[in-house]
Amino acid sequence: MAGSPRLIGSEIYRRSSYGGRHPLAIPRVSLMLDLVRALGWVSDGAYVEASPASAAELARFHDAAYIAAIERAERDQRVEAVVSERHHIGRAGNPIYPEVFSRPATACGATLTAVNMLLSGSDAPAVVHSPAGGTHHGRRDRAAGFCYFNDPVLGILRLLDRGLSRVLYVDLDAHHGDGVEDAFRDEPRVLTISIHERDRWPYTGGLADQGPSWRNLPVPPGFHDSELAFLIDEAVVPLGEAFAPEAVMIQTGADGLADDPMSKLALSNWALWRAVARLRALAPRALVLGGGGYNPWAVARCWAGIWATVAGFEIPERLPEPAERLLRAVEWRHRLARNPPAHWFTALADPPNEGPVRAEIPAIAAAALGGVQAAVWTRILEQHRA
Ligand SMILES: [Zn+2]
Repeated sequence: MAGSPRLIGSEIYRRSSYGGRHPLAIPRVSLMLDLVRALGWVSDGAYVEASPASAAELARFHDAAYIAAIERAERDQRVEAVVSERHHIGRAGNPIYPEVFSRPATACGATLTAVNMLLSGSDAPAVVHSPAGGTHHGRRDRAAGFCYFNDPVLGILRLLDRGLSRVLYVDLDAHHGDGVEDAFRDEPRVLTISIHERDRWPYTGGLADQGPSWRNLPVPPGFHDSELAFLIDEAVVPLGEAFAPEAVMIQTGADGLADDPMSKLALSNWALWRAVARLRALAPRALVLGGGGYNPWAVARCWAGIWATVAGFEIPERLPEPAERLLRAVEWRHRLARNPPAHWFTALADPPNEGPVRAEIPAIAAAALGGVQAAVWTRILEQHRA
């Protein structure tokens, strides 16, 4: 299997749920893994079962007291009010559930294992897909936005620790990749680029917020396939090419899809597959992560198509019967599930959602590319490379 793409997952996602009516109380990674297997897209040796990251590994970024608090939360299934307040555990969308430490630690373990594989020498795969990763809101000492630990930050730190000096992070989630951006604002070896819906939680990543190590592309509601293609081709790819990364990490949150209940963006999964194909080519090694996504069918089909994109499988127009059966067996208590369109069960691809590129989209590209700032940024990069 030397050199061929790898897929990392874990069985923990099959039995663990955020519980109750939490938006993450739906099958995502487990359904995606079942779907790619039903399609015959996981050959022997391509799949790797992740193990949880250790407390010591998590401490490369996270505060030791915070890590210990989440371990205690898993053991006791409760935390004291002061701990909850201090670390945002058991509040603000970050519930205490049976695997509240093991599950996020496994996402981090998957990302760290992916990095190890990418840097494993002549046998290294050029691309690793870890759909459990992408928990981009996690902070050093607190949970945020359903994210307890920040696996992209830990993965990027390991890439740097192993000697890489230029790592590109591109975040396609509907929400701003704030935790990753903030972790590397003062780190010239990392460039973070986030495309996200404007005026949506966490309300950061505005058009004016551009810097030497970070770029933001806040997009309007209704953002569609042609507009994403425009921003990828006219802003993200040029920025990435100028940066000449040794590795690219792509966060593929599926909550910007038109079928997702959490955002007002209107992408089809085709648009994300195309973006991943373009971005993946920016560096000799790529780590493709998951992220948000709150419609089980949309997430699983999108991420299955991402694995097909990076691993080179042809996406059939009509799903084979075992794959359709899997999708039809999913239950989702949500108003969107009352009248589901047929293609949620019978096809992997959504109908493309193309249209005219609105006038504000080129302005967003220009802001991210920068004017005078771009010249300064280029000089910083040149100094850094010298
Ligand atoms: Zn999101």
